[in-house]
Amino acid sequence: MKVVKIGGGCLNGKKTIEHILTLIQQRCRGQIVVVSALKGVTDFLIECMPRALESEEAIPGIISRIKSKHINVVRHLIKGQKDLKLFSKDLSKSLRKLERFYYGLNFTKEITPRTYDTISCFGERFSAQMLATVLRSRGEKATCLMPHNIGMLTDGKFGDATANLKKTSENFRKHVLPLVNGKKIVFIPGFYGVSEDGEITTFGRGGSDYSAAVVAAAVNAEVLEIWKDVDGFMSADPKYVPEAELIPLLSYEEAAELAYFGAKILHPRCVEPVRAKKLKIRITNTLNPDAEGSIVMQSSPRTKKIIKSVAFDDGIGVLKVHAAGIGARPGILALVANQLSTNGINIRSVVTSQTCISFLLDQKDLNPGKKAMHGISPKPFRKIKINSDISLISIVGDGIHSKKGVAARCFAAVAACNVNVEMISFGPSKSSMYFITRKKDLMSAVNAIHSTFFSSH
Ligand code: ASP
Ligand code: MG
Repeated sequence: MKVVKIGGGCLNGKKTIEHILTLIQQRCRGQIVVVSALKGVTDFLIECMPRALESEEAIPGIISRIKSKHINVVRHLIKGQKDLKLFSKDLSKSLRKLERFYYGLNFTKEITPRTYDTISCFGERFSAQMLATVLRSRGEKATCLMPHNIGMLTDGKFGDATANLKKTSENFRKHVLPLVNGKKIVFIPGFYGVSEDGEITTFGRGGSDYSAAVVAAAVNAEVLEIWKDVDGFMSADPKYVPEAELIPLLSYEEAAELAYFGAKILHPRCVEPVRAKKLKIRITNTLNPDAEGSIVMQSSPRTKKIIKSVAFDDGIGVLKVHAAGIGARPGILALVANQLSTNGINIRSVVTSQTCISFLLDQKDLNPGKKAMHGISPKPFRKIKINSDISLISIVGDGIHSKKGVAARCFAAVAACNVNVEMISFGPSKSSMYFITRKKDLMSAVNAIHSTFFSSH
């Protein structure tokens, strides 16, 4: 059995969805399909929370926009009036629930992590319901199972939950596996699960990949297929590096590092659940479904090029905490890091020296991070600086740490195009190295590194 994940990028507009439905009919009978929300719906659900909190009058408009977004698609996909009515009735029922949550925000005048998660996962519930209904109207045996009814159990952490794989597997054995027989197509909304107390908890933005990986591990699937509108992992972003090549095979470690450092192919956490079970992940391009794509598995062959990919992230910034003798003062790193995390700020990476701790944060977190630092009393630092004029470049490939001269080749290429390297981290992962440059230098550095490692064959 396989588990297929369909991303929001593939659920974009009537024609694309029609195409996806045909592929599902051809390839997913007797399989499980984990889906994202239709493109833009999760963002919309989230944007509307403060609006609903402010004004009760805004709520009916929000609900009707979500309704028409789905109905317009379904009208195109379902021909029979009876099936269309049925869908409309189901959708209205779910929308009434959503509406109550928005009124709840307005009534309580607060958006708690609990309501945030409950509201933001509605998009997946609608899309899964929608696809199952449309396929049923075409005579397929399709069903939709809600994570909260089949025991997709989490640790209960709102906004960033982790699945309890053992209990989820036990529950799925009872509630999911008996249904995946014959030619049934089983849809499961991605993005969330429930805590032991029945609280809806999401896996964080983009978390449907992780959901699908949990489902695949829980049912012991043979493969997890991630359906996207690209062929797979590339040796660089082809938008900026025209010679970029497809990477046919990657290890879990390489895929996780690449996902973390900028390649927007997979959610970085997607590898966690499948790794333990040694399940393969295959990236399938829905526009070219018979193409090879990329396969992620336990280990990948070392190639002559050594590195698999050069990735970048220009949505990050650095927060520098300057203080004397950092290396000799116990607890200072814990103190400042804790202050960031209690303020809801995620630390992407950290590098320390005797006089400075440099935190890499998402750009949007720089100012809140600085503010949080000033909230520590007494002040454990001399000054705080932030810099958003930076980009992170990483090179990824198993074995880059044990092979001589990789870093030297990389930095020689960067120096040859007159780019300054500001900060380096080499060591925490065996498969990656990253460094920081000024934003204006990003593309020349990426191209220089790519041609150094990839054009000499
Ligand atoms: N719909 C959710 C999001 O946009 C989850 C996902 O698509 O993976 O974050
Ligand atoms: Mg997504």
